Amino acid sequence: MPTYDVAIVGGGYSGLAVAHFARKRGLSAVVLEKEERPGGKVQTVREAGNVVELGPLGWLDKEPAVTEMAADLGLVPVPAAPAEKVRYLLRRGRITALPSGPGSFLTTPFLTVGGKLRVMAEPFIKAKRDGGDESARSFARRRLGQQMADAFFEPFVSGIYAGDPGRLSAPGAFPLLAGWERDSGSLVRGAVKYMRAKAKRRKAGEPVGTGSLCSFAGGLAALAEAGTQALGDDCRLGVAPDRARKDGDCWVLERGGQEVARARQLVMACPAPATAGILRAEAPDLVDAAEGIRGDPLCVVAATFRREQIRERVDDGFGFLAARSEGFRPLGVQFAHAIFPGQTAAGLAQIRVLIGGSFDAQAHALDDAGLYQACFGPLEGLLGITGEPLQTWTRRVMGGVPQYEMGHLVRVARIEASAARLGGLHFAGDSFSGVGVVKAFARAKEVALAL
Ligand SMILES: Cc1cc2nc3c(=O)[nH]c(=O)nc-3n(C[C@H](O)[C@H](O)[C@H](O)COP(=O)(O)OP(=O)(O)OC[C@H]3O[C@@H](n4cnc5c(N)ncnc54)[C@H](O)[C@@H]3O)c2cc1C
Repeated sequence: MPTYDVAIVGGGYSGLAVAHFARKRGLSAVVLEKEERPGGKVQTVREAGNVVELGPLGWLDKEPAVTEMAADLGLVPVPAAPAEKVRYLLRRGRITALPSGPGSFLTTPFLTVGGKLRVMAEPFIKAKRDGGDESARSFARRRLGQQMADAFFEPFVSGIYAGDPGRLSAPGAFPLLAGWERDSGSLVRGAVKYMRAKAKRRKAGEPVGTGSLCSFAGGLAALAEAGTQALGDDCRLGVAPDRARKDGDCWVLERGGQEVARARQLVMACPAPATAGILRAEAPDLVDAAEGIRGDPLCVVAATFRREQIRERVDDGFGFLAARSEGFRPLGVQFAHAIFPGQTAAGLAQIRVLIGGSFDAQAHALDDAGLYQACFGPLEGLLGITGEPLQTWTRRVMGGVPQYEMGHLVRVARIEASAARLGGLHFAGDSFSGVGVVKAFARAKEVALAL
C-alpha cells in the first residue's frame, strides 16, 4: 500500500478541494468517501431537462478558491439571473419584498417607526468587547433592537443554519458580524470599513469575486464530479474508515482492523461526530468537543409544475423566508427556475422547499407524501398552485447543517490543540470553521497550504 503525503477522510466539497489544492502543490493525496457518490451535502439530480439541487443551491462568488478549482478543472461558473437579488419574507401571510436599500428600508412595513429608529441608533450602542460568548439572538437584539432581530435576523439565521438563534453562538456562527462590533465598535462602521477594504483590494487587482450567486452548467455536482475524475483511483468511494492511528510518523486509516490508507498527514473533512468516532482511540481528548458539533436533519423537497398551474408571479425573485411567528412550517421556499433559468425545462416552474432543522427536527420522519404536503400544502393558497406537480424529489440530509452553538470556538480550539499534540492532523469541513460552500473552500485551501 503506498504512503501518501496526505489522506483525506470525506469526499464532500471540502475534502475534494483539500485534495485538489494539495496536488496542485505537488503532494500526493487520497480521498476516502463513505458514500458511493462524491459531493456530500452537494447532490444534483438531472432529469427530464431539469437540474434539481437537493443540497445547496449555489455559492456566492466572493471566495477565489472555488473559482480557482473550477478553472483548473475546466468549469465556468454560471451566475444567477438578476431575479436572485430580489428577496422576500412572509408577513402576515403575504409574500412581501425585503428592503433592498436605505430608501426602501424607510418605507418597509416590517418595522414600526420606533423599530427603524432603533436600527439607525446601532452605531451609538456601546460595543461588547469582553471576548465572551453570546447567543446570536442576544447579539442581534442588543445591536439592532428586538423588532429588527425578530423580523429579519431570525429568518436569515434559519436560511443559513436552520438553527435556533437562542442557542447559536454569535462569534462562532457569525464571526464577521461579531468582528465588526469588536474591531469597529458597531456593525455599521464595520460594514463600511469592510466594503472600503474590499474596494481597495479590487482596485489593486486582487480576486474579490462579484458577490453573485453562482452554479455550474449541470449544477453544483459538476465540480464534485470533475474533482473526483481528476483524482482517478485516488478518490476511493464507498470507503469509510472507522479508526485513525499513528504509526511512527505516519497516520494509518483502518476499517474493521484492516488498513485502508496510510499517509504522512491526515485531514478530517467529514462531519464532527464521524471525526470523533474515527479519532476516539488516538485522541480521546477531542471526542467530547467534536461530538458537541451536530446538526438536526434538514429536508429538501423540490417539485416542477407547468407555469399555468401557478397563479402568482414566481419569476422575479429568489423566494422567501418566514419568521417563526408566521406559523409557516417550512424554513424557506426558493424559485429555482427564476434563480438559474437554464436549469429548468422550458415552460416549467421548479420550486424548492427546505424543512426541518433545529425547530422541527422530526420533520424527516414524515414519509415522502407527508413531507410534500408539509412543504407544498401551505404554498397552494399562497402561490395559487393548482393540480399535481409534474415531478417531485425529496432528500433528507440527516446531519443537516452543523450548529455552531454557544461554546463553539472553545470546542474548536480544544480540537485544534489535540491535533497539534499529535502532529500531522488537520480539520476541514463545515463542522469546524464555517458553514457554506465558500467557507468550505476557503478553509480547504488554507489547510492544503498548511500541509
Ligand atoms: C439542504 C442544504 C442546503 C444548503 N444550501 C447551501 C447554499 O445554498 N449555499 C451554500 O453555500 N451552502 C449551503 N449549504 C451548506 C453546504 O452544503 C455545506 O456547508 C458544504 O457543502 C459542506 O461541505 P463539506 O465537504 O464540508 O461537508 P459534507 O458535504 O458534509 O461532506 C462530508 C463528507 O464526509 C463523508 N463521511 C462521513 N463519514 C465518513 C467516514 N467515516 N469516512 C469517509 N467519509 C465520511 C460524508 O459522506 C460526506 O460526503 C446547504 C446545506 C444543506 C444541508
